[in-house]
Amino acid sequence: KVIKGEALRKKMHNTILELKGNIRVFCRVRPLLLDDGVENEAKTISFPTTTEAIGRGIEVMQHGQCHPFMFDKVFTPQSSQEEVFVEISQLVQSALDGYKVCIFAYGQTGSGKTHTMMGTPGSYDDKGLIPRSLEQIFEARQKLKEQGWKYEMQVSMLEIYNETIRDLLSSNKSSVADSGSNKQQYAIKHDSNGNTHVSDLTIVDVRSSKEVSFLLNRAGQSRSVGKTQMNEQSSRSHFVFTLRISGVNENMEQHVHGVLNLIDLAGSERLSKSGSTGDRLKETQAINKSLSSLSDVIFALGKKEEHIPFRNSKLTYLLQPCLGGDSKTLMVVNVSPEPSSVNESLCSLRFAARVNACEISIPRRQTSMRYLEPRLSYG
Ligand code: ADP
Ligand code: MG
Repeated sequence: KVIKGEALRKKMHNTILELKGNIRVFCRVRPLLLDDGVENEAKTISFPTTTEAIGRGIEVMQHGQCHPFMFDKVFTPQSSQEEVFVEISQLVQSALDGYKVCIFAYGQTGSGKTHTMMGTPGSYDDKGLIPRSLEQIFEARQKLKEQGWKYEMQVSMLEIYNETIRDLLSSNKSSVADSGSNKQQYAIKHDSNGNTHVSDLTIVDVRSSKEVSFLLNRAGQSRSVGKTQMNEQSSRSHFVFTLRISGVNENMEQHVHGVLNLIDLAGSERLSKSGSTGDRLKETQAINKSLSSLSDVIFALGKKEEHIPFRNSKLTYLLQPCLGGDSKTLMVVNVSPEPSSVNESLCSLRFAARVNACEISIPRRQTSMRYLEPRLSYG
């Protein structure tokens, strides 16, 4: 059987994936901010400059001990939004080729997750990877049109707080699922084609990146309403932006169905264990559970285990079809350079190393061995 065009491209793409694994981990250290207390500039984070580690290594000093790590890419405080996006744009593009893609921002509150994903509203250079991805996709769509491709795009945005889904595009103000009377709201189902359906979730057809920006604003407002009502909910919830892409090329009789999920995760910080009770404790437990489920799932996928524990959290269950199979995952681990955050930074980097270390194959593992923390320390 002769493989042509799109199919060939996908096959070659897959061969490359086979070689490299389909999980990537990037790390990004944000700059010190004025609020951080700059007088306390004792350097806790540095970037090794050996040939092997340049652009990929990061070292954290804690109690006079150096903890080195190595990732697929490390962005320093000087790295611009554009530099970050350049490294991600191919992955975004693959959603147009029919791949399912998940990009996560992980890190403690204040480490730069939202900056990385959304950027600063209104500032052109500071645009994060959600607006940049959308611009790229709609631009590419225009070019592909000339080759006979027709694309339809749909957007949904939701937040997962305490294992409960909230629709951020719902015009209904009280869109939090009422756990008492209406249990079936926002129930997650996957069909046999690998499509995910969330009952009652608002899905909007979009034709331009402007339309999506408008929706992102609306979702942002909906999130901040929640914030005052629910104890700074936004840093305690996962934000999931989903773009579904279907393309047809009638000349070539081809269809593609891609999904791009962009996820701003809840802050990974541990609250002081003694101090948290009641709602705060429940919240922390829900976050810990879903973040550790996420790393368990990625780890199990990387090791090609038979049982993948998707069902252990709402987030992993929602994203199940986009995490397994030939889908692609990128985790961007955000780190604050503040000396007072060194413990949290180490926790984040260890989480990332666990996710990264699951990737088998490729020779670079051997060269980077000394950069991996001993397994024991992952907890
Ligand atoms: P998070 O979403 O992880 O809680 P934010 O993205 O809100 O963190 O970042 C915290 C603060 O740091 C914000 O004021 C943000 O503008 C700033 N910031 C984060 N990353 C960068 C960066 N790379 N360059 C400049 N400012 C940044
Ligand atoms: Mg944030």
